[in-house]
Amino acid sequence: MERLYLDHAATTPVAPEVVAAMLPYLTSAFGNPSSAHSFGREAREAVERARRQVAASLGAEPAEIVFTSGGTEADVLALRGAAYACRRRGNHIITTAVEHHAVLDTCLALDTEGFDVTVLPVDERGKVRLEDVAAAIRNTTILISVMHANNEVGTVQPIRAICEVAHRHGVLVHTDAVQSFGKIPVSVADLGVDLLSLSGHKIYGPKGVGALYVRAGTPLEPLFHGGGQERGLRPGTENVAGIVGLGRAAALVKEKLAEETRCLRALREYLKKELVARLPDVRFNGDQEDCLPGLLHFSIPGVDGPTLLKMLDGEGIAVSGGAACTTGETKPSYVLLALGLAEDYTRCPVRVTLGRSTTVAAVERFVAVLDGAVRRLRGE
Ligand code: PMP
Repeated sequence: MERLYLDHAATTPVAPEVVAAMLPYLTSAFGNPSSAHSFGREAREAVERARRQVAASLGAEPAEIVFTSGGTEADVLALRGAAYACRRRGNHIITTAVEHHAVLDTCLALDTEGFDVTVLPVDERGKVRLEDVAAAIRNTTILISVMHANNEVGTVQPIRAICEVAHRHGVLVHTDAVQSFGKIPVSVADLGVDLLSLSGHKIYGPKGVGALYVRAGTPLEPLFHGGGQERGLRPGTENVAGIVGLGRAAALVKEKLAEETRCLRALREYLKKELVARLPDVRFNGDQEDCLPGLLHFSIPGVDGPTLLKMLDGEGIAVSGGAACTTGETKPSYVLLALGLAEDYTRCPVRVTLGRSTTVAAVERFVAVLDGAVRRLRGE
């Protein structure tokens, strides 16, 4: 049975071009970038090339890119780093109820360390309201962290408008762009953010590498100390092959973005149409306009989500239960609860995320198998 992978928001396969770019840095060009000899120089040049590639894909300066071990570390460095650096100015941080755990749990931890965290609600589509952001700002507010696109329902937030409000009050803005980068245009100038997180393994790059964009002049304290790598903000010998892979993957994003976005949007619309035709009571969650092009999150009333996912897995189809990034899919999703959806909806969501290799035939197979499984579960 040929397996069908429709969980690209969880992770993606590494693109062949990326594997080819990485390979020499695991074998012949294995030097430590901090060494002065030719092996070191070769590795250092590769890291700096990758920095230029990542910067170019965001419209940033290379000096504004700090490589990390992934999206989680980039989020934590942004939040803790900015919070500690601004602590003399104030202790108030604003975030939203639908952030990834890397942000939410870090905020909760900071709250126990003397910072004061406001968690804003979202509307029924998962969007934060600008008036809520404006009303939450105090003269002690130092940082606002709102994700660019939600990993569960795909809703895209009005980051530019949030930055305009925040900057009027001298408040820094961080956005987690782990899900949006590579799927919709992400330009730090257009968004206006001070800090932005991204991750390699969501963009056909390797796992265990990511980056934090730090606008020039943004106050940030390192979380740990060691050698002076990454301008002292993230010391430790760099994951050279991973960074090279991230750089190549980011360059591919720049090349392919417009065409890929168009294809994914068309496939998503087709998937929606097919689902409605077979399962008229299907409910789509999240904003259907401002959304990621390849993500569709839906609920089928009365159907037990974990059982459905097991049946799909048994047919070789990999999708997510929607409550991404938690194990044991039985808990209602905090994201759907924040959207104000009733518990029976939150218990049975399915998140399908299409990718570079997804075809029309794949969408049709998914819908046919899903339809069969739902009918069996409903005893039809
Ligand atoms: N933020 C978001 C929105 C994510 O979807 C993820 C990955 N699930 C992360 C952060 C964490 O990234 P990483 O897996 O690279 O640590």
